[in-house]
Amino acid sequence: MLSLLMLDVRTLAFVSSLGGFLMLATMLGIHYAGLRSKAVLAWGWAGLAMGLGYLLGHMLQTVPVPIPAWQAGALANALIGLGYGLILIGVQCYLNQKRWWLFVVVLTLAGLFSSVAFPELRESLRLRIIVLTGWYILMLSCAGLLLWRAAVPGMIFYQRAAALVLFSYAGFLIIRFTYALFSAALTTSFVQDPFQLVNFLLSMIFGFCFTMALAVMLLREKQVELERLAQRDPLTGMNNRLSLDHFAAQAMTRARDAQLPLSIMLFDLDHFKQINDRFGHQAGDALLQTVAERVEQVKRATDTGFRYGGEEFLVLLPGATAEQAVEVAERYRSSLADEPVDIGPDDVRLTASFGVVEWDKAESWDALVNRADQALYKAKNSGRDRIVS
Ligand code: GH3
Ligand code: MG
Ligand code: MG
Repeated sequence: MLSLLMLDVRTLAFVSSLGGFLMLATMLGIHYAGLRSKAVLAWGWAGLAMGLGYLLGHMLQTVPVPIPAWQAGALANALIGLGYGLILIGVQCYLNQKRWWLFVVVLTLAGLFSSVAFPELRESLRLRIIVLTGWYILMLSCAGLLLWRAAVPGMIFYQRAAALVLFSYAGFLIIRFTYALFSAALTTSFVQDPFQLVNFLLSMIFGFCFTMALAVMLLREKQVELERLAQRDPLTGMNNRLSLDHFAAQAMTRARDAQLPLSIMLFDLDHFKQINDRFGHQAGDALLQTVAERVEQVKRATDTGFRYGGEEFLVLLPGATAEQAVEVAERYRSSLADEPVDIGPDDVRLTASFGVVEWDKAESWDALVNRADQALYKAKNSGRDRIVS
């Protein structure tokens, strides 16, 4: 079938080396685009090692090389093995796990010198295949298993897809290993080994697919991180105003579908400008973090809190009528007012004014927030540290 495609071992070895160089180029591109990490570098080096290894394998059969063929062959195999080892190291860097450098270096050196130490390896293709594929299977399966098991929410599909690419090629190598183990028919000729063509073809496909899987996985991870950052307020760690639209639309749809009430609570800290003036902006920032902690302590599991503005906060209260929302707001109010905050020399009593409103299912989100704002304004004007609904 492959010979029908006019593909031969020499051509495929060359194309396999392109697979390695593609991985190098892609990782360099990702690195210079700013997604820098040790994993990206390790995978780039892996691509270089595999590219050079397969290129040497190709040259061995096409041009005269200045060193004995068995030495060039041992070097090519060691480079390819090193490439798989670096894939494993890259996976461990990516997962922030302990790197098995010693394991990879020892296996590479052992691979390099075994042909010198054991002339049988030079003579017997069968033995060489058993040793080499065994080594490659070990590296690829370890890398695949680590990636498969460590998959994190939001990334599972992408990490497992990369692991599956590793398992697929390791699976073929296991078949080849088993065949070499039990077949007496293997000749000493590299080119005549029937598995050689398939091996080079699959190693080429592996190089292309794995590069693609890694690139998509790295980009996806960055995307997830950016989405998370875009929705968080950096000072308090609360959801920010940008994320509110999404949560509000979702809460309104649910309330409408389930015919349940929905209320919101908007509160603004009292005389915060004075606190800033007296204790400094940094102390003000620390107080805002304390407010976020108290919101987190008081908040019911179904509610979602947002930093709505500088020292204004909004809480979505699904399922709560106006009366229930006022009761909840009272817990927030007292959690602030009843326990002064210790900021260095002084304790500060933080209070806030609250506007609480229940959604009338005909009104828009903007109209609802507007009503909450008006209630808050009334709370401010009638003496602060209180709730108006
Ligand atoms: P009121 O009781 O009427 O709300 O009085 P106030 O002083 O709190 O007035 P207002 O709500 O208008 O004050 C907003 C102040 O909050 C202005 C600004 O100094 C402060 N502020 C806003 N954002 C931050 C922030 O991120 N850090 C700090 N430290 N202060 C902030
Ligand atoms: Mg204020
Ligand atoms: Mg304000």
